[in-house]
Amino acid sequence: MLNVVIFGAPGSGKGTQSELIMKEFELDHISTGEVLRNEIREGTELGKIADEYISKGQLLPDELIIDILGKELDGKKDSKGVVFDGFPRTIPQAKALKKMLNERGTDVAVMLDLHVEEDELVRRILERGKLSGRQDDNLETIKSRLEVYHNQTAPLAGYYREEGTYHAIRGGGTIEDIFGLIKKKLDSLVTDSQDTQAHG
Ligand code: ADP
Repeated sequence: MLNVVIFGAPGSGKGTQSELIMKEFELDHISTGEVLRNEIREGTELGKIADEYISKGQLLPDELIIDILGKELDGKKDSKGVVFDGFPRTIPQAKALKKMLNERGTDVAVMLDLHVEEDELVRRILERGKLSGRQDDNLETIKSRLEVYHNQTAPLAGYYREEGTYHAIRGGGTIEDIFGLIKKKLDSLVTDSQDTQAHG
C-alpha cells in the first residue's frame, strides 16, 4: 500500500494537495477534520464534543481521535493506499497509526511536510474562512491553532525523520507547482516498490 501522511500547519494546503494525490495515484483519503465537521453537521454526540475543541482551536484527546481513525481505516480494507490528512497531529497518534498499519501488514511510505511562511498561512486561512464558513477560520482561533501546531504537532517532523520517511516540500507557489514536487516524490516511491517486487 502507498500510505502517505500529508503534514503541515493549518492553511498549508493539506486538503487541496490530498485531493490531487488521491486522483493521480488512485488512493483513498482520510481527513480527520472532515470526519469531525460531518459529525458536527449531523449533530451527533461526537460532533458536540468535537465542536468544543475545534471552536477553541484545540486538539481532540488522542484516545478519541485514534479510535475514530481506526474506524475509518477499517472502512478502507481493499485500498491501494491512504492519504492521511490531519492525522497524526501528536507523537502518540503517530505511534498509534504505525501500530494500526503494521497490524494490517503495511506502514507509512512517506510523510510530506508542507512548508509555508506564517503570514501566508494566516492570509490563506482568513481567505478560506470567507467561503468555507468554518467556525475555526477566524483570527483568534487561527492564533491558537498555530500555537498548538508548533507545540504539539511540529515535533512529528523529528519522529518521521527517525522513521526515515520524512520529506519536506516547499509549500509556497501555485497549487500546480507544489503538486509537481509531490508527484515527483510519489512517482519515485512507486518506481522503487515496483523494482523491489521485480527483483525479489
Ligand atoms: P487545519 O486546517 O487546521 O489543518 P483540520 O480540518 O485538519 O484543519 O482540523 C480542524 C480541527 O479538527 C483541528 O483544529 C482540531 O481541533 C480537530 N482535529 C482534526 N484532526 C485532529 C487530530 N488528529 N487530533 C486532534 N484533533 C484533531
